[in-house]
Amino acid sequence: MKETLHIYTRVSSVSQEEEGTSLETQLELGIERSKKLGMKHKTWNEGGQSSSKDDLGNRPVLVNLLKGIDDGDVKHLYVWNTDRLSRNMNTWGMIRFKLIKNEITLHTPTGKQILSDPQTNLMLGIMSEISQYDNKLRTERFRLGRIHRIKQGFWKGGPPPYGYKLIDSSLVPHEEEKKWVSFIYENYKDGKSLDEIRTLLLNNGVVTRRGNPVWSHGSISKLLTNTHYEGFYTYTDKKSNETIRVPCPPIVSPTIILEVKKWRDKRSYGKDDSRRTKTSNEKYNYLLRDFLICGHCGSRFGGNHKKTQTSYYYCSQKQKNFQNTHTEKYTVCESKRNIRIDVTDELVWDTVLDIVSKSHLFMESVKSELVENDKSYGKTKDELKKLQLKVNKIDKEIKDVTDSIINLETIKILGQRDKDEVEKIIKNLEEHRLKLSGKKEKTILSMSEEEKNQKWVDWVKEFGDRIGEMKKSDFKFEEKKKFLEGVVEKIVVKNTDVQEHELKIEFRLPYVGDKLVWNDEEKKSKGYILKNGKRSKVLRVNLLKKSLT
Ligand SMILES: [Zn+2]
Repeated sequence: MKETLHIYTRVSSVSQEEEGTSLETQLELGIERSKKLGMKHKTWNEGGQSSSKDDLGNRPVLVNLLKGIDDGDVKHLYVWNTDRLSRNMNTWGMIRFKLIKNEITLHTPTGKQILSDPQTNLMLGIMSEISQYDNKLRTERFRLGRIHRIKQGFWKGGPPPYGYKLIDSSLVPHEEEKKWVSFIYENYKDGKSLDEIRTLLLNNGVVTRRGNPVWSHGSISKLLTNTHYEGFYTYTDKKSNETIRVPCPPIVSPTIILEVKKWRDKRSYGKDDSRRTKTSNEKYNYLLRDFLICGHCGSRFGGNHKKTQTSYYYCSQKQKNFQNTHTEKYTVCESKRNIRIDVTDELVWDTVLDIVSKSHLFMESVKSELVENDKSYGKTKDELKKLQLKVNKIDKEIKDVTDSIINLETIKILGQRDKDEVEKIIKNLEEHRLKLSGKKEKTILSMSEEEKNQKWVDWVKEFGDRIGEMKKSDFKFEEKKKFLEGVVEKIVVKNTDVQEHELKIEFRLPYVGDKLVWNDEEKKSKGYILKNGKRSKVLRVNLLKKSLT
């Protein structure tokens, strides 16, 4: 393909009169040159422009030509003399820089021009250093600007997390997605596995952000560890390693978050949900699995439910060993035997029920809760309402402070007020906002305490007056489990040398063998005191035999 000689012509008011420099002459000589070189030609005619201000501002044709050079469309350029391009030193320097950088051959009537000389090379070197420096500066300004905006509560960039949308660059709850976030949390809290949650989502036609109807374990698991729903997220600036804690609107209640955290710790030993995804029998609901802890190695217990054969609880260390045999996590667990699920469930249920129903402490707490019941229930509810109002008020205040900061930023940029003065105010406001965030977190924490209180009241209401009938009637499995959660902390399992197991049931309160001591045995009207019992009960039994009796 034939190359093109780009002919740039211009007359300046000063040199216009010069012999042989009219536009026509310039063009004619240019075309002649192109023929000699065996090239096509293209004309770029600037015409006559006032050169009183010789920069690119009044040279639209040259600007276009330079763009062609940058784009790689122009390789050969012809001018009458280099003055045509610019008389101005700075502009000429810039043009020459472009020509050399893009390896343009510059032709004049006297032949090809050599643009690079040692001095020019030095200048090019410096210019490229400066442009790199400029780029770095721009990146740095961009980085600082971004950190500043994040500190003001704006989203860090990228798509918002599931459950949120962006309005004016801030995270705002997404009404539809928010519902499903709560749904996932609630179900996980209620003991559903990731698999089960996935199925529930599928059945409800809930799609992921990418429109996928099948949620991955990873994405559900990630959602359950996402701090946004709690009301904040952190951003770490890679360069300074500074971590910023940014508040955002919470969408899951603190109580549920705390419970999910507890569950997550319970369910995972080592890797995320490894037990639950690996066992095929995870759908079976175990009464005691989550209470059992191995007295030899401290691991949680797993359950192995079989429909036709005997089912066992076992120290999960066995699985762990299998996974970690060659890692430093490898420890030997001395527990040798599993324990039968049926026998253990029955024994623990009977024992706990017996101890709790005989406990004066338990009765006392039920009595006082029931006496206070409506009053304290109402109090808790009122308290919760009050705390929620407080959170709302703080939120409003945070928003106002943020608005003021943004306002002041604008004022600073526009230079409407003294910069130092404005910055000082902004700094104060930012400190104030930080304090507000702290206050908000504290309030949310006391809300979760209050909610826990309320749950205890609910629990007592549900079981307190039924403790007598519990022994007789067949209790629903879920109710049994709920009852145990209210009184039992954990159960430590050991096997002894003989054919025996040791079960240590640890209670939440010292219920075991507590005593009621009358101040005066003769005059009961003088009242009594409660003597605390023990917190734990140790049982030694063979948990491999079919029945205890
Ligand atoms: Zn163990």
